[in-house]
Amino acid sequence: MSMREIKLCLLGDSGVGKSSLVVRFVNDKFTANLESTIGASFMSKTLVVNDTSYKFQIWDTAGQEKYRGLAPMYYRGAAAAIVVYDVTREASFQTLKDWIRELKQYGSDNIVLAIAGNKCDLEDLREVSTRTALEYAEENNAIFCETSAKTAHNVSQIFTLITQRLPSES
Ligand code: GDP
Repeated sequence: MSMREIKLCLLGDSGVGKSSLVVRFVNDKFTANLESTIGASFMSKTLVVNDTSYKFQIWDTAGQEKYRGLAPMYYRGAAAAIVVYDVTREASFQTLKDWIRELKQYGSDNIVLAIAGNKCDLEDLREVSTRTALEYAEENNAIFCETSAKTAHNVSQIFTLITQRLPSES
């Protein structure tokens, strides 16, 4: 079985659920009061897809969203990024463009981009329609999933979809 190491960056406004998604993916847990200080700043998890073992090194801003000066180091060598918004907070969807712009500025040209509409378990509070987000993802050639760190809906799925878009190793 071949093994690949994938650096992946998580982006998105504070509170959209980035740390919760990482904890769900890595530990298969959900904690309603995850403290931002404990928020995963660096975690790794191996996923096996089609006889290849992908070791994800996941970089989370862990509440450092404001320290934009860290960006170049944060993005260096990243093969993939997940940009997260909260389906119950329209403003977090509107800022996706800023995160994607920053990613294009500092990230590599062939970085695999995924967009996660998180908290899809909160259907009654939804502010962003699936269709609007899907169209936006298509315009940006991005993978798109609505996820829930709470119920685990589509969490490992989005990572699996990313592995399928990675350029084959030369
Ligand atoms: P971050 O600042 O982007 O890392 O966001 P956090 O992971 O700290 O999550 C912010 C808040 O949203 C916390 O209170 C989480 O418990 C909550 N949260 C995160 N993901 C979900 C989800 O999928 N569903 C629900 N209902 N709450 C979530």
